[in-house]
Amino acid sequence: MKTVKNFDRIGEENAFAVLGRAGELAADGMDVINLGIGQPDFPTPDNIVEAAVRALRDGHHGYTDAIGILPLREAVSADLYRRYNTQVSPANILIVPGGKVTMFSAILMFGSEGSEILYPDPGFPIYRSMIEYTGAKPIAIPIREKNGFAFSAEETLKLIGPNTRLIILNSPANPCGGITPKVEVDKLVAGLAAYPDIAILSDEIYDQMLYDDEKHVSLLTYPEIRDRLIVLNGWSKTYAMTGWRLGYSIWPEELFNKARKLAVNAWSCVNAPAQYAALEALTGSQKAVGEMVAAFDVRRKGVVAELNDIPGVSCITPKGAFYAFPNVSKTGWRAKDLARELLEKAGVATIGGPDFGTLGEGYIRISYANSQENISRAMARMKEFLTTTKPLV
Ligand code: PLP
Repeated sequence: MKTVKNFDRIGEENAFAVLGRAGELAADGMDVINLGIGQPDFPTPDNIVEAAVRALRDGHHGYTDAIGILPLREAVSADLYRRYNTQVSPANILIVPGGKVTMFSAILMFGSEGSEILYPDPGFPIYRSMIEYTGAKPIAIPIREKNGFAFSAEETLKLIGPNTRLIILNSPANPCGGITPKVEVDKLVAGLAAYPDIAILSDEIYDQMLYDDEKHVSLLTYPEIRDRLIVLNGWSKTYAMTGWRLGYSIWPEELFNKARKLAVNAWSCVNAPAQYAALEALTGSQKAVGEMVAAFDVRRKGVVAELNDIPGVSCITPKGAFYAFPNVSKTGWRAKDLARELLEKAGVATIGGPDFGTLGEGYIRISYANSQENISRAMARMKEFLTTTKPLV
Protein backbone atom coordinates (compact mmCIF):
# COMPACT_ATOMS: atom_id res chain seq x y z
CA MET A 1 0.00 0.00 0.00
CA LYS A 2 1.29 3.44 -0.90
CA THR A 3 2.04 5.77 1.99
CA VAL A 4 3.11 9.40 1.89
CA LYS A 5 6.65 9.70 0.55
CA ASN A 6 8.14 10.86 3.84
CA PHE A 7 7.67 7.35 5.21
CA ASP A 8 9.92 5.87 2.53
CA ARG A 9 12.74 7.97 3.91
CA ILE A 10 12.39 7.05 7.57
CA GLY A 11 15.42 5.16 8.90
CA GLU A 12 16.28 2.71 11.66
CA GLU A 13 18.23 2.22 14.84
CA ASN A 14 20.17 -0.93 14.10
CA ALA A 15 20.85 -1.56 17.80
CA PHE A 16 17.26 -2.86 18.03
CA ALA A 17 17.75 -5.21 15.04
CA VAL A 18 20.95 -6.53 16.64
CA LEU A 19 19.10 -6.96 19.95
CA GLY A 20 16.47 -9.03 18.11
CA ARG A 21 19.06 -11.16 16.28
CA ALA A 22 21.05 -11.69 19.48
CA GLY A 23 17.82 -12.90 21.11
CA GLU A 24 17.18 -15.36 18.25
CA LEU A 25 20.70 -16.77 18.42
CA ALA A 26 20.41 -17.11 22.20
CA ALA A 27 17.06 -18.88 21.81
CA ASP A 28 18.84 -21.33 19.46
CA GLY A 29 21.29 -22.11 22.25
CA MET A 30 24.19 -19.78 21.46
CA ASP A 31 25.94 -18.08 24.35
CA VAL A 32 25.59 -14.47 23.17
CA ILE A 33 27.28 -11.56 24.95
CA ASN A 34 25.43 -8.37 24.16
CA LEU A 35 27.63 -5.31 23.83
CA GLY A 36 25.23 -3.90 21.25
CA ILE A 37 22.33 -2.13 22.88
CA GLY A 38 22.98 1.07 24.82
CA GLN A 39 21.35 0.52 28.15
CA PRO A 40 22.67 0.07 31.69
CA ASP A 41 22.75 -3.57 32.77
CA PHE A 42 21.65 -2.52 36.27
CA PRO A 43 18.05 -2.73 37.43
CA THR A 44 16.24 0.53 38.23
CA PRO A 45 17.07 1.37 41.89
CA ASP A 46 14.54 -0.03 44.39
CA ASN A 47 13.39 3.32 45.77
CA ILE A 48 12.30 4.33 42.26
CA VAL A 49 10.48 1.07 41.59
CA GLU A 50 8.73 1.39 44.97
CA ALA A 51 7.60 4.92 44.13
CA ALA A 52 5.88 3.62 40.99
CA VAL A 53 4.20 0.83 42.92
CA ARG A 54 3.06 3.34 45.55
CA ALA A 55 1.71 5.63 42.84
CA LEU A 56 -0.36 2.79 41.42
CA ARG A 57 -1.65 1.87 44.90
CA ASP A 58 -2.45 5.54 45.55
CA GLY A 59 -4.69 5.58 42.51
CA HIS A 60 -2.60 7.48 39.97
CA HIS A 61 -4.25 5.68 37.09
CA GLY A 62 -5.56 8.49 34.95
CA TYR A 63 -4.26 11.12 32.54
CA THR A 64 -2.03 13.79 33.99
CA ASP A 65 -1.47 17.29 32.72
CA ALA A 66 -0.09 16.89 29.17
CA ILE A 67 3.11 18.70 30.12
CA GLY A 68 3.73 16.45 33.13
CA ILE A 69 2.86 16.72 36.82
CA LEU A 70 3.99 19.98 38.41
CA PRO A 71 6.05 18.42 41.25
CA LEU A 72 8.09 16.56 38.65
CA ARG A 73 8.70 19.65 36.53
CA GLU A 74 9.71 21.48 39.72
CA ALA A 75 12.06 18.62 40.62
CA VAL A 76 13.71 18.78 37.18
CA SER A 77 14.18 22.52 37.64
CA ALA A 78 15.72 22.01 41.12
CA ASP A 79 17.96 19.22 39.83
CA LEU A 80 19.29 21.43 37.02
CA TYR A 81 19.88 24.25 39.48
CA ARG A 82 21.75 21.89 41.83
CA ARG A 83 23.94 20.49 39.04
CA TYR A 84 24.46 23.50 36.78
CA ASN A 85 23.68 26.45 39.02
CA THR A 86 21.27 27.70 36.38
CA GLN A 87 17.60 28.65 36.57
CA VAL A 88 15.14 26.81 34.35
CA SER A 89 11.49 27.55 35.02
CA PRO A 90 9.17 24.53 35.37
CA ALA A 91 7.05 26.40 32.80
CA ASN A 92 9.68 25.54 30.17
CA ILE A 93 9.96 21.86 31.10
CA LEU A 94 7.94 19.24 29.25
CA ILE A 95 7.82 15.64 30.50
CA VAL A 96 7.90 13.30 27.50
CA PRO A 97 7.87 9.53 26.90
CA GLY A 98 11.62 8.99 26.40
CA GLY A 99 14.60 10.98 25.21
CA LYS A 100 13.84 10.24 21.57
CA VAL A 101 10.60 12.17 21.71
CA THR A 102 12.43 15.48 22.13
CA MET A 103 14.51 14.96 18.98
CA PHE A 104 11.39 13.83 17.15
CA SER A 105 9.51 16.97 18.20
CA ALA A 106 12.38 19.42 17.55
CA ILE A 107 13.21 17.96 14.14
CA LEU A 108 9.53 17.98 13.13
CA MET A 109 9.37 21.62 14.20
CA PHE A 110 12.32 22.78 12.08
CA GLY A 111 12.65 20.28 9.25
CA SER A 112 10.96 20.75 5.89
CA GLU A 113 11.84 20.56 2.19
CA GLY A 114 14.40 23.27 1.46
CA SER A 115 15.75 23.56 5.00
CA GLU A 116 19.01 22.14 6.33
CA ILE A 117 19.73 20.57 9.70
CA LEU A 118 23.24 19.94 11.04
CA TYR A 119 23.76 16.73 12.99
CA PRO A 120 26.76 14.78 14.33
CA ASP A 121 28.30 11.97 12.22
CA PRO A 122 28.95 9.46 13.70
CA GLY A 123 25.90 10.17 15.82
CA PHE A 124 22.68 8.73 17.16
CA PRO A 125 21.02 7.35 13.99
CA ILE A 126 17.58 8.77 14.67
CA TYR A 127 18.78 12.34 14.10
CA ARG A 128 19.43 11.67 10.44
CA SER A 129 16.43 9.41 10.06
CA MET A 130 14.05 12.07 11.35
CA ILE A 131 15.72 14.84 9.35
CA GLU A 132 15.22 12.79 6.18
CA TYR A 133 11.65 12.03 7.16
CA THR A 134 10.84 15.74 7.21
CA GLY A 135 12.43 16.32 3.79
CA ALA A 136 15.11 18.61 5.19
CA LYS A 137 18.68 18.13 4.02
CA PRO A 138 20.93 16.45 6.61
CA ILE A 139 24.33 18.14 6.90
CA ALA A 140 26.87 16.03 8.78
CA ILE A 141 29.05 17.59 11.48
CA PRO A 142 32.17 15.41 11.39
CA ILE A 143 33.10 13.82 14.71
CA ARG A 144 36.73 12.79 14.37
CA GLU A 145 38.93 10.45 16.34
CA LYS A 146 41.82 12.90 16.04
CA ASN A 147 39.73 15.45 17.98
CA GLY A 148 39.02 12.92 20.73
CA PHE A 149 35.60 12.42 19.11
CA ALA A 150 34.51 15.96 19.95
CA PHE A 151 33.04 18.32 17.37
CA SER A 152 35.11 21.23 16.13
CA ALA A 153 33.35 24.57 16.54
CA GLU A 154 35.17 26.00 13.54
CA GLU A 155 34.18 23.10 11.27
CA THR A 156 30.58 23.25 12.52
CA LEU A 157 30.22 27.00 11.95
CA LYS A 158 31.50 26.59 8.38
CA LEU A 159 28.63 24.20 7.61
CA ILE A 160 25.99 26.82 8.34
CA GLY A 161 24.23 28.15 5.25
CA PRO A 162 21.24 30.36 4.46
CA ASN A 163 18.83 27.42 4.87
CA THR A 164 20.15 26.08 8.17
CA ARG A 165 17.30 25.92 10.68
CA LEU A 166 18.57 23.63 13.44
CA ILE A 167 21.91 22.40 14.81
CA ILE A 168 21.97 19.16 16.78
CA LEU A 169 24.75 18.63 19.32
CA ASN A 170 25.39 15.68 21.59
CA SER A 171 27.88 15.52 24.44
CA PRO A 172 28.74 13.16 26.09
CA ALA A 173 28.20 11.39 22.82
CA ASN A 174 26.78 8.22 21.44
CA PRO A 175 28.41 6.26 19.75
CA CYS A 176 31.96 7.50 20.31
CA GLY A 177 31.97 8.35 24.02
CA GLY A 178 33.51 11.75 23.27
CA ILE A 179 32.82 14.90 25.21
CA THR A 180 33.20 18.40 23.86
CA PRO A 181 35.64 20.61 25.75
CA LYS A 182 34.35 23.91 27.11
CA VAL A 183 36.62 25.94 24.80
CA GLU A 184 34.91 24.42 21.74
CA VAL A 185 31.43 25.06 23.16
CA ASP A 186 32.44 28.65 23.99
CA LYS A 187 33.67 29.13 20.42
CA LEU A 188 30.55 27.65 18.91
CA VAL A 189 28.20 29.73 21.03
CA ALA A 190 30.19 32.89 20.20
CA GLY A 191 30.01 32.05 16.48
CA LEU A 192 26.26 31.39 16.67
CA ALA A 193 25.66 35.01 17.69
CA ALA A 194 25.83 35.79 13.97
CA TYR A 195 22.89 33.43 13.30
CA PRO A 196 20.13 34.37 15.75
CA ASP A 197 17.42 32.50 13.82
CA ILE A 198 19.03 29.07 14.04
CA ALA A 199 17.67 26.80 16.78
CA ILE A 200 19.95 24.47 18.74
CA LEU A 201 19.04 21.02 20.04
CA SER A 202 21.46 19.87 22.73
CA ASP A 203 21.16 16.17 23.51
CA GLU A 204 22.48 15.88 27.06
CA ILE A 205 21.07 12.47 27.93
CA TYR A 206 24.50 11.22 29.11
CA ASP A 207 25.26 14.33 31.17
CA GLN A 208 25.98 12.33 34.33
CA MET A 209 28.08 9.64 32.64
CA LEU A 210 31.48 11.29 32.81
CA TYR A 211 34.88 10.01 33.91
CA ASP A 212 38.32 11.28 34.93
CA ASP A 213 36.85 14.28 36.80
CA GLU A 214 35.39 15.69 33.58
CA LYS A 215 32.57 18.20 34.10
CA HIS A 216 29.60 18.39 31.77
CA VAL A 217 29.26 21.65 29.87
CA SER A 218 25.51 22.13 29.60
CA LEU A 219 24.35 24.51 26.90
CA LEU A 220 21.87 25.71 29.52
CA THR A 221 24.72 27.65 31.09
CA TYR A 222 24.92 30.00 28.07
CA PRO A 223 22.19 32.65 28.63
CA GLU A 224 22.85 34.20 25.21
CA ILE A 225 21.31 31.19 23.39
CA ARG A 226 18.53 30.34 25.83
CA ASP A 227 15.86 31.87 23.61
CA ARG A 228 16.59 29.27 20.89
CA LEU A 229 17.90 26.33 22.86
CA ILE A 230 16.07 23.01 23.18
CA VAL A 231 17.56 20.51 25.62
CA LEU A 232 16.96 16.77 25.49
CA ASN A 233 17.43 14.82 28.70
CA GLY A 234 15.77 12.05 30.65
CA TRP A 235 15.95 9.19 33.06
CA SER A 236 16.81 6.28 30.74
CA LYS A 237 20.57 6.19 31.18
CA THR A 238 21.25 7.95 34.50
CA TYR A 239 18.71 5.94 36.49
CA ALA A 240 18.74 2.72 34.44
CA MET A 241 15.15 3.34 33.29
CA THR A 242 15.27 2.69 29.53
CA GLY A 243 12.11 0.59 29.57
CA TRP A 244 10.05 3.12 31.52
CA ARG A 245 10.05 5.57 28.59
CA LEU A 246 10.67 8.79 30.43
CA GLY A 247 12.37 11.95 29.33
CA TYR A 248 12.15 15.69 29.55
CA SER A 249 12.67 18.57 27.17
CA ILE A 250 13.43 22.17 27.90
CA TRP A 251 11.95 24.59 25.39
CA PRO A 252 12.32 28.31 24.99
CA GLU A 253 9.12 30.18 25.80
CA GLU A 254 8.36 30.79 22.15
CA LEU A 255 8.36 27.06 21.32
CA PHE A 256 6.95 25.54 24.48
CA ASN A 257 3.31 25.84 23.48
CA LYS A 258 3.99 24.22 20.10
CA ALA A 259 5.74 21.31 21.81
CA ARG A 260 2.85 21.04 24.29
CA LYS A 261 0.34 20.87 21.45
CA LEU A 262 2.32 18.11 19.79
CA ALA A 263 2.15 16.20 23.09
CA VAL A 264 -1.62 16.67 23.25
CA ASN A 265 -1.95 15.42 19.69
CA ALA A 266 0.40 12.47 19.94
CA TRP A 267 0.63 10.97 23.44
CA SER A 268 -1.60 13.05 25.78
CA CYS A 269 0.74 12.59 28.74
CA VAL A 270 3.43 10.31 30.11
CA ASN A 271 2.36 7.21 32.04
CA ALA A 272 1.31 8.56 35.47
CA PRO A 273 3.05 6.10 37.84
CA ALA A 274 6.26 6.47 35.81
CA GLN A 275 6.16 10.21 36.50
CA TYR A 276 6.02 9.53 40.26
CA ALA A 277 8.96 7.16 39.86
CA ALA A 278 10.85 9.90 38.01
CA LEU A 279 10.10 12.29 40.87
CA GLU A 280 11.61 9.84 43.36
CA ALA A 281 14.62 9.39 41.08
CA LEU A 282 15.40 13.11 41.28
CA THR A 283 14.48 13.77 44.89
CA GLY A 284 15.63 10.51 46.53
CA SER A 285 19.16 9.27 47.18
CA GLN A 286 21.60 9.63 44.26
CA LYS A 287 23.85 6.89 45.66
CA ALA A 288 22.93 4.35 42.97
CA VAL A 289 23.88 6.80 40.20
CA GLY A 290 27.36 7.24 41.66
CA GLU A 291 27.75 3.49 42.03
CA MET A 292 26.71 2.82 38.43
CA VAL A 293 29.07 5.44 37.04
CA ALA A 294 31.91 4.03 39.19
CA ALA A 295 31.21 0.54 37.81
CA PHE A 296 31.15 1.84 34.22
CA ASP A 297 34.45 3.57 34.85
CA VAL A 298 36.15 0.31 35.87
CA ARG A 299 34.74 -1.46 32.81
CA ARG A 300 35.70 1.43 30.55
CA LYS A 301 39.36 1.13 31.55
CA GLY A 302 39.22 -2.65 31.22
CA VAL A 303 37.60 -2.73 27.78
CA VAL A 304 39.98 -0.12 26.34
CA ALA A 305 43.01 -2.08 27.56
CA GLU A 306 41.63 -5.33 26.15
CA LEU A 307 40.72 -3.76 22.80
CA ASN A 308 44.18 -2.29 22.41
CA ASP A 309 45.60 -5.76 22.97
CA ILE A 310 43.87 -7.10 19.84
CA PRO A 311 46.04 -7.00 16.71
CA GLY A 312 44.81 -4.37 14.24
CA VAL A 313 42.49 -2.71 16.77
CA SER A 314 43.13 0.61 18.50
CA CYS A 315 40.84 2.44 20.87
CA ILE A 316 41.15 5.86 22.44
CA THR A 317 39.81 6.17 25.98
CA PRO A 318 36.25 7.48 25.92
CA LYS A 319 35.51 10.20 28.45
CA GLY A 320 31.75 9.87 28.69
CA ALA A 321 28.61 7.76 28.12
CA PHE A 322 29.21 3.97 28.19
CA TYR A 323 30.54 3.31 24.72
CA ALA A 324 33.95 2.55 23.28
CA PHE A 325 34.45 3.19 19.57
CA PRO A 326 37.50 1.18 18.54
CA ASN A 327 39.18 1.75 15.20
CA VAL A 328 39.16 -1.60 13.39
CA SER A 329 40.29 -0.34 9.98
CA LYS A 330 43.68 -2.07 10.25
CA THR A 331 42.07 -5.50 10.68
CA GLY A 332 41.13 -5.46 6.99
CA TRP A 333 37.45 -5.95 7.85
CA ARG A 334 34.69 -3.63 6.78
CA ALA A 335 33.08 -2.53 10.02
CA LYS A 336 29.57 -3.84 9.34
CA ASP A 337 30.86 -7.22 8.12
CA LEU A 338 32.94 -7.49 11.26
CA ALA A 339 30.03 -6.61 13.55
CA ARG A 340 27.77 -9.13 11.80
CA GLU A 341 30.31 -11.97 11.79
CA LEU A 342 31.29 -11.32 15.40
CA LEU A 343 27.67 -11.86 16.34
CA GLU A 344 26.95 -14.80 14.04
CA LYS A 345 30.24 -16.69 14.55
CA ALA A 346 31.58 -15.57 17.91
CA GLY A 347 28.38 -14.66 19.77
CA VAL A 348 29.46 -11.08 20.48
CA ALA A 349 26.92 -8.37 19.66
CA THR A 350 28.37 -4.99 18.70
CA ILE A 351 27.20 -2.33 16.24
CA GLY A 352 29.04 -1.46 13.03
CA GLY A 353 30.18 2.18 12.95
CA PRO A 354 28.42 2.93 9.62
CA ASP A 355 25.10 2.46 11.42
CA PHE A 356 25.91 5.82 13.02
CA GLY A 357 26.90 7.66 9.85
CA THR A 358 29.33 7.56 6.96
CA LEU A 359 32.27 8.58 9.13
CA GLY A 360 31.63 5.47 11.24
CA GLU A 361 33.31 3.25 8.61
CA GLY A 362 36.38 1.63 10.15
CA TYR A 363 34.89 1.54 13.65
CA ILE A 364 32.53 -0.58 15.72
CA ARG A 365 30.59 0.50 18.78
CA ILE A 366 30.96 -1.45 21.98
CA SER A 367 28.60 -0.77 24.83
CA TYR A 368 30.42 -1.60 28.04
CA ALA A 369 27.20 -1.56 30.05
CA ASN A 370 27.72 -5.25 30.77
CA SER A 371 29.52 -7.15 33.53
CA GLN A 372 33.32 -7.03 33.64
CA GLU A 373 33.34 -10.80 33.26
CA ASN A 374 31.17 -10.72 30.13
CA ILE A 375 33.22 -7.89 28.64
CA SER A 376 36.45 -9.87 29.15
CA ARG A 377 34.90 -13.00 27.65
CA ALA A 378 33.70 -10.96 24.69
CA MET A 379 37.11 -9.36 24.16
CA ALA A 380 38.79 -12.78 24.28
CA ARG A 381 36.36 -14.04 21.63
CA MET A 382 36.95 -10.99 19.47
CA LYS A 383 40.72 -11.45 19.69
CA GLU A 384 40.42 -15.13 18.82
CA PHE A 385 38.07 -14.35 15.93
CA LEU A 386 40.29 -11.65 14.46
CA THR A 387 43.45 -13.72 14.74
CA THR A 388 41.90 -16.81 13.14
CA THR A 389 39.42 -15.50 10.56
CA LYS A 390 40.26 -13.82 7.27
CA PRO A 391 38.29 -10.66 6.42
CA LEU A 392 35.41 -11.04 3.97
CA VAL A 393 36.22 -9.38 0.68
N1 PLP B 1 19.97 10.45 22.67
C1 PLP B 1 21.04 9.66 22.63
C2 PLP B 1 22.37 10.25 22.27
C3 PLP B 1 20.92 8.30 22.91
O1 PLP B 1 22.01 7.51 22.86
C4 PLP B 1 19.66 7.77 23.22
C5 PLP B 1 19.48 6.33 23.47
O2 PLP B 1 20.30 5.51 23.23
C6 PLP B 1 18.57 8.63 23.23
C7 PLP B 1 18.76 9.97 22.97
C8 PLP B 1 17.19 8.13 23.47
O3 PLP B 1 16.90 7.88 24.79
P1 PLP B 1 15.52 7.19 25.21
O4 PLP B 1 15.78 5.73 25.31
O5 PLP B 1 15.19 7.81 26.53
O6 PLP B 1 14.51 7.50 24.18
